[in-house]
Amino acid sequence: MSAIVEKLLNRNLAELTPYESARRLFSGGQDWLNANESPYNNIYQLDDSTLNRYPACQPEDVVQRYASYANVSSDQVLVSRGADEGIELLIRAFCQPGRDNILICPPTYGMYAISAQTNNVGVQSVPLKNDFSLDVDAVCQSQNVNLVFICAPNNPTGTQVAREDIKTVLEAMADKALVVVDEAYIEFDAHNTWATELAHYPNLVILRTLSKAFALAGLRCGFTLAQPAVIQALLKVIAPYPIPEPVAQIAEQALSIEALPRLYDQVGQINAEKQRLTESLAGLQNVEIVGAQYANFVLFSHPLAKELMQYLVASGMLIRDQSKQLGLQNCLRVTVGTPEQNQRLIALTNEFLNEVAQ
Ligand SMILES: *Cc1c(COP(=O)(O)O)cnc(C)c1O
Repeated sequence: MSAIVEKLLNRNLAELTPYESARRLFSGGQDWLNANESPYNNIYQLDDSTLNRYPACQPEDVVQRYASYANVSSDQVLVSRGADEGIELLIRAFCQPGRDNILICPPTYGMYAISAQTNNVGVQSVPLKNDFSLDVDAVCQSQNVNLVFICAPNNPTGTQVAREDIKTVLEAMADKALVVVDEAYIEFDAHNTWATELAHYPNLVILRTLSKAFALAGLRCGFTLAQPAVIQALLKVIAPYPIPEPVAQIAEQALSIEALPRLYDQVGQINAEKQRLTESLAGLQNVEIVGAQYANFVLFSHPLAKELMQYLVASGMLIRDQSKQLGLQNCLRVTVGTPEQNQRLIALTNEFLNEVAQ
């Protein structure tokens, strides 16, 4: 660090390192099963006739189409640069730096804590129980927390959160905190959404994204669903032009009535393939399936997880090491890919197991 940076850098940033996203960790490789992306690549059209103009802050057609897709009203929808920006906006709008806290339930998605830390907001932690269920009593007893993040289905455990548990937290926190239910993977377990409950809970916030089931991780487009008062508060902190025009055009096409059957079809195929992949993995020597499979990935453990990971990476098969997460020793997470990719993963893992058995 240079002297001037050392002198001026915000104190809360000194200890932080840039987020190790899947794409930063590995750039090579042929099979990318490390970031829970979709294996499908769909085709879109671009109209370049208005690119000289600034885009709408909240492109109306995108908001309306997402609202009707999610069965909510347009004034309950905010569109942002991925769900990650939704997390950031919630923290900036509802947590005072140096004073307020968020609550997370690890092992879970890393960006809640990172966004809090970069904004000098405190992070309280109530770990999931051994079976990865929510520690409801401890969550409800927490003090001085403005936002409670609950990831459902949870990344990286793939477990779903009991509806009764979320209801209990929503009610206990009714006049204390917003409860943010991260539904990044909800399409893979669609009937468990909380979107239908928005009208009943002024403190319920739901995060959604086009990055996973919609196969548009490269687009950077996500949604926050909540009662209008919350959405209006977030509009106070969002940038004036957060959604580039090409992003709005593609999101609009992805959310059109004609495109939605393709989404449901691809989700069905991924869910079926997930079943096969889970069974194949479970049949391998010393492999244990960990958590559940309500999303588009499978978490498993093996005593030689580190060596297996190295073997796969050396073969261009990228998966994600989760062994540093709380309670996930020796755990690896693999995204459901194409049938060919999943078969290759199983074949390579078999090869590795045969080598170490000798
Ligand atoms: C991938 C993911 C996100 C981020 O979604 P983007 O829209 O790509 O920013 C948010 N939450 C969870 C749990 C995720 O796994």
